[in-house]
Amino acid sequence: MKPEADHIVSFDGVRKSYDGENYVVKNLDFKIRRGEFLTLLGPSGSGKSTMLMMLAGFESPTQGEISLNGVVLNKIPPYKRDIGLVFQSYALFPHMTVEKNVAFPLQVRKVPKHEIAAKVKRALDMVHLGALADRSPSQLSGGQQQRVALARALVFDPKLILLDEPLGALDKSLRESMQMELRHIHENLGVTMVFVTHDQDEALIMSDRIAVINDGIIQQADRPDVIYNQPKNQFVANFIGETNMFKGKVSTFERDYCDIALPDGNIIKAKKSNALSLNEEVNVTIRPEHAVLVDHPSHLNYMNCIKAKVVETIYHGDHLRLSLNNGDDSTFMIKVPTQSLHGSLDPGQSVAVEFHANNCCIVKS
Ligand code: ADP
Ligand code: MG
Repeated sequence: MKPEADHIVSFDGVRKSYDGENYVVKNLDFKIRRGEFLTLLGPSGSGKSTMLMMLAGFESPTQGEISLNGVVLNKIPPYKRDIGLVFQSYALFPHMTVEKNVAFPLQVRKVPKHEIAAKVKRALDMVHLGALADRSPSQLSGGQQQRVALARALVFDPKLILLDEPLGALDKSLRESMQMELRHIHENLGVTMVFVTHDQDEALIMSDRIAVINDGIIQQADRPDVIYNQPKNQFVANFIGETNMFKGKVSTFERDYCDIALPDGNIIKAKKSNALSLNEEVNVTIRPEHAVLVDHPSHLNYMNCIKAKVVETIYHGDHLRLSLNNGDDSTFMIKVPTQSLHGSLDPGQSVAVEFHANNCCIVKS
């Protein structure tokens, strides 16, 4: 079979069961694009590591095929797949120096001795560890050890690197700087990276594309901004970022917009998504930052206005989170930039909130 130039990996009808009964990966048909930074994002237990381990060769699919550059991998052992791996636990060899750890994949691949030193140096420089080549792993911090693991995954110039929650054990500021470093390494090398995380912010920051996974199924795979702004279903809308969700029924259609009638009588105008029918039950989502407090309703076309009462305000420095009540037990949350606030907002106070129909996304349950 001829490899498709723009895809490096293809999962075709892949299913995985560990116990012969329950499938933890279900009918995976998915292609990884050459050179992309793809993130598998999902809650713990959703099947992310299983997908990665099947690609790496440490688990085999119960059904289906995985191809790398057009070659079916199923019977090829891990060490012959030419894939670099980084895990959350660094898995460095404790008795070897940093330099020897990084040289190891080259020795296994029988790279000539005189080439090894130069390749190791290049990989260590890439992760800013050139000066620590003679240390042993126990003399390094967690972040440094993870850099060694990354250098070891890069050193043999694989075309595909898999990273399973590699930054999970690092504290926040170190994690953020490593996120940027990883992105830069990806840009510089042009290598395909598949990155697993359960952290939605990390996924949004780092990825060319995010595959949101739940229950062994890819729910949506797209650019971060599309995932954020046009979530396909309720799971994706709730898992990525914060969102308010209103349940209602489709009451009227126009060309590009439709009205959703809420149980409390309010109507929300939303951008139409395909395949909606009259009276269908749907959810409308609106992000907290897309709703604006107004003194008076503007009555502009396609602008929704909801009246509500302040339940709680929480100060976040750059913004205020307002929890609002717009009916019996229905609350929603908005973010107000601190700079735009005039005067105080007290619990019980009546306010009006506007949000444009273009920012209302219809998702099915
Ligand atoms: P994630 O990486 O998204 O947290 P995993 O792929 O590790 O998810 O796990 C998916 C499901 O498969 C979980 O229910 C987990 O308990 C189960 N599982 C993972 N590895 C094994 C294994 N080696 N044997 C049996 N069950 C496993
Ligand atoms: Mg995992």
